[in-house]
Amino acid sequence: MSDLIRISAAELAARLAAREVSSVEATQVHLDRIAAVDGAVHAFLHVDGERALAAAAEVDRRRAAGDALGPLAGVPIAIKDVLVTEGMPSTAGSRILEGWVPPYDATPVRRVREAGLIPLGKTNMDEFAMGSSTEHSAYGPTYNPWELERIPGGSGGGSAASVASFEAPLALGSDTGGSIRQPAHVTGTVGVKPTYGAVSRYGSIALASSLDQVGPVSRTVLDAALLQDVIAGHDPLDSTSIPDAWPSMAEAVRQADVSGLRIGVVKQLDSDGFQAGVRSRFHEALELLERNGADIVEVSAPHFEYSIAAYYLILPAEASSNLAKFDSVRFGLRVMPEGGGTVEQVMAATREAGFGPEVKRRVILGTYALSAGYYDAYYGSAQKVRTLVQRDFDAAFAEVDVLATPTAPTTAFKLGEKLDDPLAMYLNDVATIPANLAGVPGISVPTGLAPEDGLPVGIQFLAPAREDARLYNVGGALEQLLLEQWGAPLLSQAPDLSTHELLATEEGAV
Ligand code: GLN
Repeated sequence: MSDLIRISAAELAARLAAREVSSVEATQVHLDRIAAVDGAVHAFLHVDGERALAAAAEVDRRRAAGDALGPLAGVPIAIKDVLVTEGMPSTAGSRILEGWVPPYDATPVRRVREAGLIPLGKTNMDEFAMGSSTEHSAYGPTYNPWELERIPGGSGGGSAASVASFEAPLALGSDTGGSIRQPAHVTGTVGVKPTYGAVSRYGSIALASSLDQVGPVSRTVLDAALLQDVIAGHDPLDSTSIPDAWPSMAEAVRQADVSGLRIGVVKQLDSDGFQAGVRSRFHEALELLERNGADIVEVSAPHFEYSIAAYYLILPAEASSNLAKFDSVRFGLRVMPEGGGTVEQVMAATREAGFGPEVKRRVILGTYALSAGYYDAYYGSAQKVRTLVQRDFDAAFAEVDVLATPTAPTTAFKLGEKLDDPLAMYLNDVATIPANLAGVPGISVPTGLAPEDGLPVGIQFLAPAREDARLYNVGGALEQLLLEQWGAPLLSQAPDLSTHELLATEEGAV
């Protein structure tokens, strides 16, 4: 395996800047890796090697000409298919958008291109980002590179798996209830949901507009910081975009220091409901931080337990409205009923054929929750709970600088295990959803492998809105301390998948 695919984005960027390697070479080794292992992992829905190599050649040309380039110029990146990309298919994992090629770039994609990063292609996801396993993709699931019969998390399983299997050093994700952080937890990668409004949602195919946030996926905290520095910032095309300038997240990682940092452990999310190995790694990480100067205190967030219930009213309500635009007229699929039909009948036939079962379930739930007779009882109550969750955060952050929780209750489960049980699937996000309800930022950092199954585990840190730099500080410090303990990055223990492609085709099962 080429060393170039194993190193971090920051290290690759340094080698590119020193002209030890060209962006064309760096891009080609990642395309080769995709060709070798993506048959087994299925992280990508679409790869555009030709365009990637052309963009890489352009960066090389500019570097040779002495142009001033950004810190990640020439580094390849994978893009979650929820973000629209000019000239590249964008499906959000749905049949209803099959074959749709957008005429413009989402703002985070535009920023990534302008910074000289090289988009390799689009990554798999649960349909319209609804799910925690990527099994709800209309194009088949993604497999966890650590164990191919296990889920890579969701909805951004493709982005996490592409980074964990060394197909890309960086990826973009979107997080509405945990879709960046939970996949990071189960794949041993780093995932960040920035403050709501930090990264533009323009061109991100909306799931729930008041919850969605685009963010970085990477193998190191510094890499996530460098990417957040590229994508964050005001965008007049998104009315919820924060106008203020942001401090450098990369600087926060480089200066990382936890002495005197007050870390609050959320009592309600430190319970028996979490797998033993998830909890033991969580507490070991906290002890390590404590030994290095952090103060660990217990805090209470009494309304967090209602987060999932509130989320599954607010999210379907917003999604049912956002998804109304897939009407057979404006985008993608159009299905004609046999013998023709009225406009309504064409729309109904198209939505029947184009949406999968989870999307239909949520649209029905959402329209019901918003219907005249039930609006106050369901949607209205959920909004009140949302306010209570926000108050829990306010009270906690009056006491501590950051909060800590395990990122998700279990390690990666097996494909199929929760597919027929929507509630079991929803419970994966018990620790991640509160941040989306309150708009605060969250990071998931790998803390090791669970002793009972040898699968990756992450710790989540949460900070007050606009204090994303605190996450990079504590995440960067923990990563450094763990690296000193381990001697090598966690992902160096992941299987080298080069031989798995063969297995996949022989067994036909994975
Ligand atoms: N798993 C959650 C859901 O199904 C979160 C999805 C997301 O963050 N996009 O809604």
